[in-house]
Amino acid sequence: MSDTLIGNGTVVTLNADNQLIEQGAVLVRDGRIAAIGLDSMLRQQYPEVDYTNAGGGLIMPGFLCTHTHFYSAFARGMAIPGEPPRNFLEILERLWWRLDKLLTLEDIRASAEVYMADAIRHGTTCIVDHHASPNAVDGSLDVIADAVEQAGIRACLAYEVSDRDGPAIIRAGMRENERFIRALRTERKQQAEAGLLAASYGLHASFTLSPATLEQCAAAGASLGVGFHIHVAEDSLDENDSMAHYGMRVADRLAENNILGTRSIAAHCVHVNSGEIGRLAETQTSSVHNPRSNMNNAVGRAPVEKMLDGGMHVGLGNDGFSMNMLQEMKAAYLLHKFALSDPQAMPADLVMKMAFSDNAHIIQQVFSPFCAGFPAVGTLQVGAAADIVLLDYVPPTPMNGANFPWHLIFGIDGHHVNSTMVAGRWLMRNRQLLALDEARIHARARELSYALWKRM
Ligand SMILES: [Zn+2]
Repeated sequence: MSDTLIGNGTVVTLNADNQLIEQGAVLVRDGRIAAIGLDSMLRQQYPEVDYTNAGGGLIMPGFLCTHTHFYSAFARGMAIPGEPPRNFLEILERLWWRLDKLLTLEDIRASAEVYMADAIRHGTTCIVDHHASPNAVDGSLDVIADAVEQAGIRACLAYEVSDRDGPAIIRAGMRENERFIRALRTERKQQAEAGLLAASYGLHASFTLSPATLEQCAAAGASLGVGFHIHVAEDSLDENDSMAHYGMRVADRLAENNILGTRSIAAHCVHVNSGEIGRLAETQTSSVHNPRSNMNNAVGRAPVEKMLDGGMHVGLGNDGFSMNMLQEMKAAYLLHKFALSDPQAMPADLVMKMAFSDNAHIIQQVFSPFCAGFPAVGTLQVGAAADIVLLDYVPPTPMNGANFPWHLIFGIDGHHVNSTMVAGRWLMRNRQLLALDEARIHARARELSYALWKRM
């Protein structure tokens, strides 16, 4: 990994002042940003360093995604047998819980590779995944970790423990989380300490977790020094189940069972009430908003602004949709205005805060148990990770730090990304993937997904 000076572009720092540097440059050294400023000055200061020309476009931090499912790649274009699902539970039962049971380790590898190529192509440099494959549990996280390592991006992995497939698979899920988390401190220590790989303890959702399972997982997660990654109140059925069986709402149940905390991720939180937002905020639990998924499953609108006002960090995930996080940002921007009939709802700067600074906060929390000096992500400043994307976007109207979020929503999209760097290493240059063979990945995935559709 050699030093490089990336210049001749507008540097989008996304620092505290949201500063843009026109005709700016960024010096990359040892996987981090070593200097940032005017192109002319840095070229004078570092004449010996290799120069990368950004071609007058944008030089910005890589996009982040804090909730996804790599295993879902084979669902694209798949016909669901039988009547179309009428509600969220039927979507799970007819689609996801049938698909995940059929996955083999080879399918899991191919699915993850599809996501890796998609991520690099769209400039997504750090991803938090949540995995399920009830009939191929043992070693599944290693298979994904190998795909992540080969791709060169950063990822945090978890296996979702659930009671839905019986005691043997509950135990297998717990074993897989534990084994993989320990591996990050032994065989995979180098990757983990480099801030490239991390793990959370995965749990499916309150309505598929018995009191005994929750208790055992809480104890295991605490002893391993990690947080939990769990779906919370994605649909009203999760709240109804918790009220009917335990006489309390989901976030309260999770708080009582020691699942919440600074390193824990409560994905979705579509149906949480103000009491639960208080619980989540006081335990410093983060949520992750997934607008495309919420609209697609017709589960409702998450009270994102109430969570943010309540002091929570709310990141942005894609829940298995494409790794083009600009699409997710646009969906977030539109969804709340439409649902609330309020054009002032969810302004672009709030969407940008979720996608960058709140996502970065969540990533910092899940990576830091494995990497003591985990660098800042989601920003370009001295000392931050050299996770950088180049976009060939030339604004047709004035662009500055204050209006940049609106350029992101209305003008910039994934197709503008031409180069992607993670930890100082180029993974794509001028739209050519350097570490992955995309044609081979897609051919293999087509073959395996066709076979899986037939089994289904
Ligand atoms: Zn999910």
